[in-house]
Amino acid sequence: MSYISRAIETAKSRNPGEIEFLQVVEEMFESIHTVVESNPKYEENAILERMLEPDRQILFRVTWVDDAGRVQVNRGYRVQFNNSIGPYKGGLRLHPSVNLSIMKSLAFEQVFKNSLTGLPIGGGKGGSDFDPKGKSEREIMRFCQNFMIELSRYLGHNLDVPAGDIGVGMREIGYLFGQYKRIKNVFEPSVITGKNINYGGSLVRKEATGYGLIYYVREMLKDNGESFEGKNVIISGSGNVAIYACEKAQQYGANIIAMCDSDGYVYDKDGIDLETMKRIKERDRKRISEYIIDHPNAEYYSGQKGIFSLKCDIALPCATQYDIGIEDAAKLKNNGCFVIGEGANMPCTNEATAYLLENGFLIAASKAANAGGVATSALEMSQNNMGLYWDFSEVNEKLDHIMVNIFNTTKKAATNYGFDKNYSAGANIASFLKISDVMLNHGIF
Ligand code: NDP
Repeated sequence: MSYISRAIETAKSRNPGEIEFLQVVEEMFESIHTVVESNPKYEENAILERMLEPDRQILFRVTWVDDAGRVQVNRGYRVQFNNSIGPYKGGLRLHPSVNLSIMKSLAFEQVFKNSLTGLPIGGGKGGSDFDPKGKSEREIMRFCQNFMIELSRYLGHNLDVPAGDIGVGMREIGYLFGQYKRIKNVFEPSVITGKNINYGGSLVRKEATGYGLIYYVREMLKDNGESFEGKNVIISGSGNVAIYACEKAQQYGANIIAMCDSDGYVYDKDGIDLETMKRIKERDRKRISEYIIDHPNAEYYSGQKGIFSLKCDIALPCATQYDIGIEDAAKLKNNGCFVIGEGANMPCTNEATAYLLENGFLIAASKAANAGGVATSALEMSQNNMGLYWDFSEVNEKLDHIMVNIFNTTKKAATNYGFDKNYSAGANIASFLKISDVMLNHGIF
């Protein structure tokens, strides 16, 4: 049995039932086979086994009181996976599906994603199974404050710097930062990113993941003699990543024909009206079904999965993990789609990814393609540490430059290791080489 296969077996036996975590590990390890097996130093230094164990994983109780005076209990998580190249960095997710396996899978991915940005950030992830849906603003504030009481023990601008993710936007970051400031009695803006511009936030952070995705996909299309101009695009999700992917793709001449939330999707053959979408989802926090009130020619269908049955050229899954399974992948192929740009983290199952690659799809893998958010978070930290603000165009130019570099890095690694247009494999190889090299430099521990 090869070293890789043994490491995967070890991961399975040490993490039973952690489906999501095991899936990202297998996806990563399968594409680094040639690299690992051709050099004995990895096995001699147990690099894979060391990479599989988080530096630490923190689980804690979050108790808070709802508007009716009832005591509620949720579970909080922070997985500090690997700080070889910088402080732990990764978002906080508030969603009822949150569990340790999902946190570990996202933190593991984050380690490698962050290394691709070329910036000094390690990898972590956190969150809670708290469901913000249907909660009042005061309940959300109380939850965030109580969550931070425990989390604050493990944070610091050189230690661990969280950010937003599903269910955590600028409002929640404000409550979290406010509570951290109160507990520590220090104004330490670079301890959390995604802040409002008035107290240390960065311009472009809000747009960064969506814009960055489109910059990466633009490069991938260019590399294959294509562009966004005139392409029909579907976007799953209508949250932060989806909205700004839509905005930038429209600026490049794409026709966004459908978007969804977790209840259903809208199909607008004339192209999604982004201002309406922003008002419903960003400002009013309502359901996407309301879109057809202003746009009666558009159609609403309940059930979010149907979005992948639409005829399109490009699909940008920007909602959540494992959105696209093998059946969705087959539908996309049969309907003429040939490009996938992963805005969400791991939106395709391993089976779906294998099928799509076999069928000649160009895939912008999340590890590389959605790194624009965390890269801009690192730019936010730099501005905080220097005590200055860059203007919109300066940050946007840096983001574009970073995404072009990430594309070139993933393409080069794919080419060097015989993976041709498999940019996902390129992302895995390039990031593995960087992290393993630094771990070897730091000695055995
Ligand atoms: P938001 O909370 O802003 O939006 C999430 C969107 O996905 C909403 O439209 C939501 O619908 C939908 N959604 C959530 N869960 C499900 C589900 N189980 N089934 C179907 N739809 C679902 O999150 P973000 O836009 O910030 O994040 C989206 C993805 O991008 C996540 O995978 C995240 O990890 C990833 N990502 C985000 C970054 C960022 O900077 N924000 C950075 C890198 C990655 P509804 O409104 O009904 O809840």
